[in-house]
Amino acid sequence: MELIDGNVIAAKIIAELKAEVASFPGRKPCIALVRVGEDPASVSYVKKKEKTAVEIGITSRVILPPITITQADLFKLLDELNADPTVDGILVQSPLPKHMDEVAVFRRVSAAKDVDGFNTLNLGKIAQEDPTGFVSCTPAGIMELLARSGVDLKGKHVVVLGRSLIVGKPVALLALQKKAGANGTVTVCHSQTSNLPAITRQADVLIAAIGRAEFVTAAMVKPGAVVIDVGINRVADATKKTGYRLTGDVHFPTVSPLASKITPVPGGVGPMTVAMLMKNTVKAFRLQAAQ
Ligand code: NDP
Repeated sequence: MELIDGNVIAAKIIAELKAEVASFPGRKPCIALVRVGEDPASVSYVKKKEKTAVEIGITSRVILPPITITQADLFKLLDELNADPTVDGILVQSPLPKHMDEVAVFRRVSAAKDVDGFNTLNLGKIAQEDPTGFVSCTPAGIMELLARSGVDLKGKHVVVLGRSLIVGKPVALLALQKKAGANGTVTVCHSQTSNLPAITRQADVLIAAIGRAEFVTAAMVKPGAVVIDVGINRVADATKKTGYRLTGDVHFPTVSPLASKITPVPGGVGPMTVAMLMKNTVKAFRLQAAQ
C-alpha cells in the first residue's frame, strides 16, 4: 500500500505558485475570504486559507459579516467585491447560516472571480470541458492528487460515493472528461443507491465523499483499488484535548492494507483543497491581467 500524501503534494503546488507570484511585477493577486458567523470549522478553514495565501504572496482580505447579516446585505457586499478591480478571487465560506440560499449566494459571485468554482457558469464549463472556467477546489484537488500520484483514470471504473454540488457531482464530471488523465467509466452512488457494497467493490478507483465517519469498510473495497477519502468527520474522543478526533469516510485501519494507494485523513484531500483555491486565485489574476 502506498500512502498518497496530500501535504507533500500540496506543498509542491504552493512552492510552484510562490515562484509564479514572485515573478509578477507590481500588484499581486488578491483573494477576498468572506466568512459569515463563527462556525468553528469555518473559522479554522478560513485561517488556513489566509495563512497559505500569505505564504504564497497572495494578498488576502478577510471579511467577517455577523451571522445576522441578511442575504440582501451579503449580496451588496459581494457586488462591491465583484466590482473592485483590486480583488481577483472571492471565496464565501460554506456552510452559510440557515436563512440564506447558499446556491443563490454562489451565483452572486462574479464568474470571473469565482475561485471556489460554484457559480453556475463555472460548473457548466466543467461539463463543456472548457479550460477557461474555475474548477471547484476539492474536486480539482482530487484530480491533481491522482495525476501527481501516477494514477491514470483511462479505462478505469471510478466509483464516486456522494453526489453533492461541492464534491460528488463535479469530481464525477472531471473523471469522465475526454482528456489525458481522465477518461474514466464513472458510477455515482448516493443515499438512495441499492446494494452499495456490490458497486463499490467494482471500483478501480473509489472516491468517498459522503460525510459518514469510517463508512467504507474492507468488505466494500476491491483489493488493489485506489481509495480517495474526502470525508472530514469529527468523532467524539475523550482522550483528545479538543474532545474529538478527525476521521474520514473510510475505515482506514482495515481498508488501507487492501488498497494499492490511499489518502489519509487528515493529510490527504484537505491540504489539496486549499492549494487549489490558491491556484485558482492566481489563474483569476492572470486572466484579469490578460484582458
Ligand atoms: P453532503 O452532505 O453535501 O453530501 C453527502 C452525499 O453523500 C450526498 O450525496 C448523500 O446522498 C450521500 N450519502 C450520505 N449518506 C449516505 C449513505 N449512507 N450511503 C450512500 N450515500 C450517502 O457532503 P459534501 O459532499 O459536502 O461532503 C462530504 C464529505 O467530504 C464531508 O465529510 C465533508 O466534511 C468532506 N469535505 C471535505 C473537503 C476537503 O477539503 N477534504 C471539502 C468538502 C467536503 P443524497 O444526495 O442522497 O443525500
